[in-house]
Amino acid sequence: MNRFEYVRPTTIAAAVAAAEQPGSAYLAAGTNLLDLMKVGVARPERLIDITRLPGMNAITWSQDGGVRVGALVRNADLAYDARFQAAFPAIAEALLSGASPQLRNVATMAGNLLQRTRCPYFQDTASACNRRAAGSGCDARGGENRLHAVLGWSEHCIATHASDVCVPLAASDAVVEVQGPGGPREIAFEALHLLPGDTPHVETALRPGELIVAVRLPAEAAAVAPHARYLKVRERTSYAFAVVSAAAGLELEAGVVRTARVALGGVAAKPWRARAAEAILAGAEPSAEVFARAAEAALMDARPSGDNAFKIELARRTVVRVLEQALAGTPSVMPALPASPFAPSSGATHAA
Ligand code: SF4
Repeated sequence: MNRFEYVRPTTIAAAVAAAEQPGSAYLAAGTNLLDLMKVGVARPERLIDITRLPGMNAITWSQDGGVRVGALVRNADLAYDARFQAAFPAIAEALLSGASPQLRNVATMAGNLLQRTRCPYFQDTASACNRRAAGSGCDARGGENRLHAVLGWSEHCIATHASDVCVPLAASDAVVEVQGPGGPREIAFEALHLLPGDTPHVETALRPGELIVAVRLPAEAAAVAPHARYLKVRERTSYAFAVVSAAAGLELEAGVVRTARVALGGVAAKPWRARAAEAILAGAEPSAEVFARAAEAALMDARPSGDNAFKIELARRTVVRVLEQALAGTPSVMPALPASPFAPSSGATHAA
């Protein structure tokens, strides 16, 4: 590991000022950053420990039922918060399907958002990787790529974003609050992560030195709470990234879908909101035929980036299944295997 400077500011302003020095990186739980430092992929010259910053680990409700989640709120704390679980069950389910219990106990909301978009070649410094070293090439293009992207990829990078919680967040019209050298600003969650294009090393819309301080969820996103699920298809039932995942929420009125929220994970360099699918569902009576059309629309632009054509059909079927699960009703108790296809579906009515 390289030598680096370590500072621990006590105010957000001091943290942002410290980050103006080139080569700086913010450190929270470090569940991704420290791993990357150990293998020589990340080489920050200065770590700014933000874990003692005030006011960043609170869950604050607004009067209308929206919620502000501080950047340092731990994944497990948020997932097991009873009020949050009732209002945003698919987000809680996604949180509990990520990583391992140990990691969920320390990993933070902002850290989850800012984990690197990556593939195994990214973490192997002997491999060419445009995301790790701009302009060096992409060994995944001609290599082992069955789990890579099928949407939004470019010749320069075909990696996927690994986060679970980002998938339902993308479907929820979340807003990211940021503090930076230019002052505070807000970024629509859907605009935070960038597609690779010809600059895959630029992963987010954050400007140099900007710090995520909170994520806000609007009250309207809680309207789907009685019919909201997250489904994660993975190669083992714990501690594995999604091959494909999907979040779905349905607001039903007199047997008709009033509002639908759908997003996919494991398919692109960013959590992928499926607005075309939402448009098909809105105003329709839920049925197998409508769900199939929605899934078709969600994957309309998909194309293989390697040996991964199977992911397109898998993603379609995952969308159909998560819609079926959402229609059946959010379980009143979180399944023993959250987000797992092996968890039995429940028709229990969710009390939001
Ligand atoms: Fe790097 Fe992206 Fe290629 Fe993986 S897919 S090797 S992360 S450029």
